[in-house]
Amino acid sequence: MRASLYVHVPVCLKKCDYCDFFSIPLADFPANASREGRFNPFVRAIHREIGARARRFSVSAWNTLYIGGGTPSLLDPTAIYELASPLTPGTEESTIEANPEDITGEWLDACQAAGIGRLSLGMQSLRDETLNAIGRRGSAASNRSALGLVKKRWRGSVSVDFISGLPGQTRESLLADLREALSFNVDHVSLYSLTIGEGTPLEAHIRAGKFAIPGNPSLPDEEEAAAAWISGRDFLENRGYAQYEVSNFAKPGRESRHNETYWRLESYIGVGPGATGTIAKGDEAIRITNRENVERWLNDPENAAEEETIPRESCILESILMGMRMKKGVDRGRFMARYGVDFADLVPKTIRDWTSKGLCVLDGESVALTKEGLLVLNRFLVDCAAEL
Ligand code: SF4
Repeated sequence: MRASLYVHVPVCLKKCDYCDFFSIPLADFPANASREGRFNPFVRAIHREIGARARRFSVSAWNTLYIGGGTPSLLDPTAIYELASPLTPGTEESTIEANPEDITGEWLDACQAAGIGRLSLGMQSLRDETLNAIGRRGSAASNRSALGLVKKRWRGSVSVDFISGLPGQTRESLLADLREALSFNVDHVSLYSLTIGEGTPLEAHIRAGKFAIPGNPSLPDEEEAAAAWISGRDFLENRGYAQYEVSNFAKPGRESRHNETYWRLESYIGVGPGATGTIAKGDEAIRITNRENVERWLNDPENAAEEETIPRESCILESILMGMRMKKGVDRGRFMARYGVDFADLVPKTIRDWTSKGLCVLDGESVALTKEGLLVLNRFLVDCAAEL
């Protein structure tokens, strides 16, 4: 079978205040006793784990590759080449995430030589005040200089991430950031709404009233943040970046294929500490979860995962939760082929109510939310879950 592949690089130089992804500080990453490169044991362990998972699930080829983190741009050019070059042949899309402040011409060249064709840059903002307020390592200047370097040196496609609702950000400043990023001719933009993760330093700062102190950047309230995000959405759409998922916008043909794997609940394998994977098996699925322990994983990457079977009912719910994120919604034919039932027959009342309000569209091929419907996706999902 074919599947997609996610490689997790679980290391960051410094943790950002809002982040709840699994990663450890570089200073805590197990040091390499030999004289070879610091990340060589990590790269070897990744390949061992990939071999084991591919054998276990009879995966013969990769549809897409995504190297994320953490911070993959901390891997030196040699490590990145050795990690990616055996994996990219035959893939239809290979992406690497990078922190703008890390990238150099040499690093970009190594990614390209390894066959990586898509670069995803975590900008978040182009204002120092905002970047400092959320504990980002980079600055507005390093974000701008990365955009310039990438424009000159990178031949593949480029995605940039921004977050709306950040401290010190206004609707105008968000639009100015997006306008500037688009001037570098990027292909894809992810525009997220800030989520305040439980237990993150950002949550603690908010609770301590840090953003209410005069002189500190203030945190926009929910309404302001939502209005800024909608302005950002409209701005991107008016410039040819079509919304194809709740938070994602692309020029035609530049949508992320890898992420579609997740939204369609198709098979992918995740490797590296803390990574998860899902293998579709008829109307059920196997979920593979790697423990969040770098040292243990490095010692035995082939046996670091736990497997559980996701029963049909949970798969149906997940297929709806993930599929309705996409502008094109849930494909009724695929749904029927997988679960033997039409999605429209599972939640007829919800679909009828939402269609009558102009928030949902049902046709022969799909069930999809409209642009305004996507703004209240969670409410639709609550209605579906209650009716199922
Ligand atoms: S660099 Fe990325 S993964 Fe690392 S702490 Fe910041 S947001 Fe999280």
